[in-house]
Amino acid sequence: MLAHPEVGVAADRPLLVADDIHRHFEGLHAVDGVSIEVPPGQITGLIGPNGAGKSTFLAVVAGTLPVTAGTIVFDGVDITPAPAYRRARRGLVRTFQLPSEFARLTVLENLLVAAPDNRGDSLVGALLGKRYWIEDERRYIKDARALLERFGMSAKESDYAGNMSGGQKRLIEIMRALMLKPRLLLLDEPMSGVHPKIVLEIQRYLQELRAEGLTILMVEHELHMVERLCDSVIVMAQGKVIGSGTMSSLRKQREIVDAYLVG
Ligand code: ADP
Ligand code: MG
Repeated sequence: MLAHPEVGVAADRPLLVADDIHRHFEGLHAVDGVSIEVPPGQITGLIGPNGAGKSTFLAVVAGTLPVTAGTIVFDGVDITPAPAYRRARRGLVRTFQLPSEFARLTVLENLLVAAPDNRGDSLVGALLGKRYWIEDERRYIKDARALLERFGMSAKESDYAGNMSGGQKRLIEIMRALMLKPRLLLLDEPMSGVHPKIVLEIQRYLQELRAEGLTILMVEHELHMVERLCDSVIVMAQGKVIGSGTMSSLRKQREIVDAYLVG
């Protein structure tokens, strides 16, 4: 159900290849030559100390920040010049580190604001006019309700998002991203500010999404969570990748332990 309607991915090819990505803020090299590959169908973790450049890197991949230099290839296509909404249409969708719900909209409306609006592009759409829109709207409401059901939030559909708990706001954000039927979901600390009970729920949802074929790249600081969820992990520090592999292999690498895992 969640798979993007476009073709699947060649199993032997990374879904995302970021090559020598730089993002500078004036003199600060927040991302300083990062090259990574994200294999399809897995959860890849991105860890590292505060200020390592993880959120900036996600923003650059999602297209919400332009790169200073480097190339981003998504499913074999160079998307470096594409703005965020075009990347989202291709199936590359992010969430934010800080909750970004629309407090004065209902939970259902928060999902509907994500609905992809493609009709303006097409002459046929314009000619078909209102009837077309109503059909779209019905479909989006149906999709949104299916997500609310799945994420155990149907009863909250008409409540203001601003009144939800930290965990529920995270779920709203994940559901809003799923409305776009992503193939690669970028998550920035989806468990932060979340009650431990909902952390376990989110963990289970992410595992289910992976089982359905969704690829995930997630920033997470809680290493036990990373260990449980992530098939492989990339470690960043000071804008650079300092290691990658499984969590257990990283624990054996002295310089990574020194740079991050203990300090
Ligand atoms: P992380 O997510 O790993 O904690 P960030 O990507 O948020 O790290 O930040 C990396 C560095 O870039 C930090 O030094 C941060 O202060 C800086 N930075 C992030 N965003 C901006 C911005 N919009 N303008 C200037 N500096 C920024
Ligand atoms: Mg961050």
